[in-house]
Amino acid sequence: MISYKDLGLVNTREMFKKAVAGGYAIPAFNFNNMEQLQAIIMAAAETKSPVILQVSKGARQYANQTLLRYMAEGAVEYAKELGWENPQIVLHLDHGDSFETCKSCIDMGFSSVMIDGSHLPYEENVALTKKVVEYAHQFDVTVEGELGVLAGVEDEVSAAESHYTKPEEVVDFVTKTGCDSLAISIGTSHGAFKFTPEQCTLDPQTGRLVPPPLAFDVLAAIEEQLPGFPIVLHGSSSVPQDEVDTINKFGGALKAAVGIPEEQLRKASKSAVCKINIDSDSRLAMTAAVREVFANKPGEFDPRKYLGPARDNMKKLYIHKIKEVLGSDNKA
Ligand SMILES: [Zn+2]
Repeated sequence: MISYKDLGLVNTREMFKKAVAGGYAIPAFNFNNMEQLQAIIMAAAETKSPVILQVSKGARQYANQTLLRYMAEGAVEYAKELGWENPQIVLHLDHGDSFETCKSCIDMGFSSVMIDGSHLPYEENVALTKKVVEYAHQFDVTVEGELGVLAGVEDEVSAAESHYTKPEEVVDFVTKTGCDSLAISIGTSHGAFKFTPEQCTLDPQTGRLVPPPLAFDVLAAIEEQLPGFPIVLHGSSSVPQDEVDTINKFGGALKAAVGIPEEQLRKASKSAVCKINIDSDSRLAMTAAVREVFANKPGEFDPRKYLGPARDNMKKLYIHKIKEVLGSDNKA
């Protein structure tokens, strides 16, 4: 049993309380490799933003859970080296699929876990989430539950269509399970292709697809039921068109990629939404930078010469999200 406290990590409790009260949201960035982690920590340290490092099931398979855990431990020390005296860094399991997965992460130093029982019948979701909460709270590890189903594909999590969270269920769910935060479905979606062109309208000025707005009425109804309770949005990448354009310009084929407009996330950040998950945008930033290097310098074969620019581009993206979208800068 390794306690996250010995690794210099923190859980989400205080962080979320301050974010809800302060009208901002904490960035939850997924990471799979060193360059991504470096970019996240550099961005968080430079802006003094609390940050949640997320590990998905796919990341655990790709990079190994043990290695990722030591990388997170190293990240705390790296943050201090960058001059961030008291780094507020959470190591969080994204989309935990079973009690065993959550337990194994808690036992090896994660400070927060998500148990995703959203695909289960309601009572089974309650029972599973409660079991994880009872285990996690013994070690002061915080737990995120989920009600409602997001559309889209994220690693192995996928659903054809979304089902909004039912506001009439949230009080019962939170009370019975004791979870510390709740992921809800109000129209965000996993992946870089969040909406079909048919679901969007066309902006005649830019020729871009404009996705349907988030269901802020559902969010307001949930907030009314659970005043001040920390709410989480998954699938909240914006799919920056300049990155998509760069990818397509240099040989890529991402034709109808559409994300959540940043002004909608800015609005959500000011509500009880206190954690916003961003994964696809960082993938796009990385891919755009690598493609550009390969297109302009076909003779390049030193990984540092293309992963370095990828890291720079991701860092720029993370800083933009922190300062211009979530408002979490200078909060840690
Ligand atoms: Zn998710």
